[in-house]
Amino acid sequence: MSRFALGRYSRYLSRLKPLPHLNKPFPFSSSAASSQDGAACHTGPPPIRVGLTESAGRAVFATRRIGSGDLIHTAKPVLTCPSLLSLDSVCYLCLKKLMGSAKFRDRGVSYCSQECQDNAKGFYDVETRGDWSSFVDYCRTHNFKYPLMVKRLSCMVISGALSADCLDILQPATLSSAMISKIEDGYGLLWNAFRKANFTEDDVAFLTKQWYTGILARIRINAFRIDLVGGSCGEDLLSLATASVEGEGAVGHAVYMLPSFYNHDCDPNAHIFWLQNADARLMTLRDVEEGEELRICYIDASMGYEARQTLLSQGFGFCCNCLRCQSRD
Ligand SMILES: [Zn+2]
Ligand SMILES: [Zn+2]
Repeated sequence: MSRFALGRYSRYLSRLKPLPHLNKPFPFSSSAASSQDGAACHTGPPPIRVGLTESAGRAVFATRRIGSGDLIHTAKPVLTCPSLLSLDSVCYLCLKKLMGSAKFRDRGVSYCSQECQDNAKGFYDVETRGDWSSFVDYCRTHNFKYPLMVKRLSCMVISGALSADCLDILQPATLSSAMISKIEDGYGLLWNAFRKANFTEDDVAFLTKQWYTGILARIRINAFRIDLVGGSCGEDLLSLATASVEGEGAVGHAVYMLPSFYNHDCDPNAHIFWLQNADARLMTLRDVEEGEELRICYIDASMGYEARQTLLSQGFGFCCNCLRCQSRD
């Protein structure tokens, strides 16, 4: 749907006032920029905080002034999934493009490194016990990508790599009844595949129709489409970030925690992009003052007003009322 970024439902509120810190720590993995990122050289936690807004929505705020083009933070994905078309050309875990013949092969899939192979071993051991052909056919026929992410998440839960409630903190999409009936078809196929593979009822006790639907509802508006921009040495972050708009097709999708808390703006002051794998980078597009909300654009910002409103409404469930939209630009 969008060209480089998918976000989630989040009601837009203009002129939000920063609210106090949330009490609970967030289970995201992120780090501040390091010198090798070629941007700001700050150590310690990222210069941001997640605040609650008056509507109970979350938002990300700068905790100090951040200069234009600075890397705000990086973020490791919670869940990745290569697209069906990219299965042979990217790392099965981190989605890095596999060039040439150097690969780490394991039972029919490839990794970019021993580390990725080791990190994927737990869920891939689970996955290789089942026959997923009917489920994959269903995804292929309907051109569905997100059920494949639920399948991977299910394998990760069974392997103990993630807990079944790991995505609960994310905002779910509102699903239509037509969507729910299609989702239920996929649920049946996934459930059957696990049961035929002789997983016990205890193993798959979490895999209820309600869980499956809830995960899909969250993935639908929180998964980011991953377009890699390469990242050859010497290019500055801004040109790499701009290049991501010109990406030649997604290598897959991934879900993050912290990046999912960024609200949308059609004239954003921040941008999310990917260099060589699914590790996300957030950078500023202009100077941001302390306390200012950081926002990214969920869609192709070059579209006109009507097209943006349609896409945001249908894809993410909200009407944008950002300053650019107020001026009908
Ligand atoms: Zn990898
Ligand atoms: Zn807007």
